[in-house]
Amino acid sequence: MTLKLRCQDYGFECDFVLEGEKNIALLEKLREHFEEEHGIDYTREVITQMIINRGHSLESIRKE
Ligand SMILES: [Zn+2]
Repeated sequence: MTLKLRCQDYGFECDFVLEGEKNIALLEKLREHFEEEHGIDYTREVITQMIINRGHSLESIRKE
């Protein structure tokens, strides 16, 4: 199952979009983007929660 993550969905005015298999590696790429482009060092837990808040189950994200 693939997941599309748009940076703007997480509160930034940014065109960055990530699309790929829904797993921890994708989440980690989003985390790196937030850190490198926006200077915000979210923890993996915070980003996981942000994605869950957008309607994705934790189960489906944790499958690697
Ligand atoms: Zn961004």
